[in-house]
Amino acid sequence: MIRILCLLLFFATNVAAKDVQSEISRALHGYTTYSESVEILARLEKQMPYENALDDAQVMAFKCWFSNPSTPNGISEYKQFLETAKPVIHQANNLNLIQELAVCEASQEYTQGNYQKALEHLKPIINIPSLDEITSSKKLSIIALAHIVLNRIQLAKGNYQEAFDSAKTAYQLFEKAGNDYEKALALKEIADIHIALYNYELAIEQLKRAKLALTKFNEQEQYKVADQLAYAYEEKGDLIKAIELYESIKKDVRRFESDNGYAYILIKLTELNIKLNSLSQAESYLTELNTLSVTDSWILTLYNFTKSEWYLATAQLQAALSSHEKITAGQQQSWPESLKERYLNLTSQLAAATGDTSLQIASQQQLIALIKDKQQAIANNTLISARLNFNYEQQILEISRLELESKLQQKLLAVAEDKSFWQGLTVMITCVCLLLFAVYTFKQVRQKKYFEILALKDELTGIANRRAILNLKRSVMLQNKLNQQVSSLISIDIDHFKAVNDQYGHDIGDELIISITNTIVQTVRCSDRVGRVGGEEFLIVLENQSLEHAKDIAERIRLSVAEKEHTSFSISATISLGVIEIAPNETSEQAAKRVDLHLYEAKRGGRNAVYS
Ligand code: GH3
Ligand code: MG
Ligand code: MG
Repeated sequence: MIRILCLLLFFATNVAAKDVQSEISRALHGYTTYSESVEILARLEKQMPYENALDDAQVMAFKCWFSNPSTPNGISEYKQFLETAKPVIHQANNLNLIQELAVCEASQEYTQGNYQKALEHLKPIINIPSLDEITSSKKLSIIALAHIVLNRIQLAKGNYQEAFDSAKTAYQLFEKAGNDYEKALALKEIADIHIALYNYELAIEQLKRAKLALTKFNEQEQYKVADQLAYAYEEKGDLIKAIELYESIKKDVRRFESDNGYAYILIKLTELNIKLNSLSQAESYLTELNTLSVTDSWILTLYNFTKSEWYLATAQLQAALSSHEKITAGQQQSWPESLKERYLNLTSQLAAATGDTSLQIASQQQLIALIKDKQQAIANNTLISARLNFNYEQQILEISRLELESKLQQKLLAVAEDKSFWQGLTVMITCVCLLLFAVYTFKQVRQKKYFEILALKDELTGIANRRAILNLKRSVMLQNKLNQQVSSLISIDIDHFKAVNDQYGHDIGDELIISITNTIVQTVRCSDRVGRVGGEEFLIVLENQSLEHAKDIAERIRLSVAEKEHTSFSISATISLGVIEIAPNETSEQAAKRVDLHLYEAKRGGRNAVYS
């Protein structure tokens, strides 16, 4: 909520008579609170018309930033405003003010989701050929602000690189113009990009810088940036830090915001305390919330979420269900992914509490699909985000350091050419190794994260644990019925594993389990799910795979394990495998029995074999 309010961005023009100009400038440079700025505007408007036409134009350009075309009423007021403002501004014939109005119009179009119209307003301001030659502070500020709006449009369209480039340009232009306030606001924009890319560390870094830079400006800036910072901490999983920050701004938000804005902070505090199981703390915030009049539909949705979670946590099932019902499912399309995830989690928990197994399974499956998508997005995005690491000052230092180094290298080159060749080669090999290592750890982390989120990870191997894989088997069996598909199971047991434990010790036994797990995981496809069901026993669920395919896969796994040398002792190991195709009418237990029967046959038949 507060983040929406703080979308209002100001900047300076200093074209007209002293008093009008200095009043506006104070507001635009961040020295006044929102209500103080509104007062300034009202006072200046009352004194219109001025002797100098530029003053009238300046007040009109300033006024544009206060329009709020988010309701039908607001839109018609805004249109009326434009009709009066445009002639006044054009009559003053001042390019800066004309462009200021264009940027403001672009910003208003952006808020309404009209990106194309917004871009048309921005185009002539952004596409100027000789940017480097501009020194006028007000001109630089206008172009910078145009880049801020452009950055938001690109971010909304998911063009992260472009968004980042615009925000960075804005930051640099504000810096050149000497505007510390706007510079700090540009850092918040960059943080937003990192948040969208799930890179909370980098977002936090930028927000901390912004918070520090904003201390000398109006009192509202601190809680606006702290709110954004708390959100980043929460998403990163640092709930304690998030709570601390919300606590620290509670008083100021009460002072400056409406009931809706204040309710938002209390809702967040309640939600986070429920997550941490601090129920009495959560209850005290809820009590305070009940005294507020919440009217905003978005805040009400969040309120109902939190209430439902609260009732669930305190075992008041009926009340939890009724709050859950009030969360209007119709708006889900526009929800952020994190809220969809929260909704599915809540739905599945409520279904579990009421014994509605099919709803529980359905919402869990949706949740898994959502998290899988998110993991994919994280995989794609954190890499982009890392490239966008923004530290302008550091970059400048870095550049001069590199220049120095390259001069040094040139000297070295002159002295011993082949020596520097070897140096280059070493650097290259190191880079390749680092890159391979980074990709490898990244893949591992991604795999692990997925299961950590659901708390269904096997501790030793990182793959699905018994509970997870059996759940998955059940839901695949349900899918078989729904979609008329066939799926198969492979049951695996390591041969003579006791002997390994006896000969090499338990630790090496563990290493062997890990090595065989990795071999299995590498041999199957991503869609085939591997789980560890017992000490040295595994189950693979092959959705939508017939017996013939499953047998081929099992044979491939058997060979890969047998061919490899495992652990630091290069142990040879074999496995026995049982394979079945799940029959349409059998229960999960019957299928389990059948596949294990084949596994025992494989053992009896001499091991290192696939029986089906
Ligand atoms: P078979 O070929 O008939 O399967 O022979 P086996 O020796 O593998 O027999 P069985 O499957 O019955 O033995 C499993 C052994 O695995 C028993 C137990 O000591 C050991 N074990 C179970 N869990 C773990 C574990 O997490 N780590 C290690 N190192 N050993 C385990
Ligand atoms: Mg066994
Ligand atoms: Mg065994």
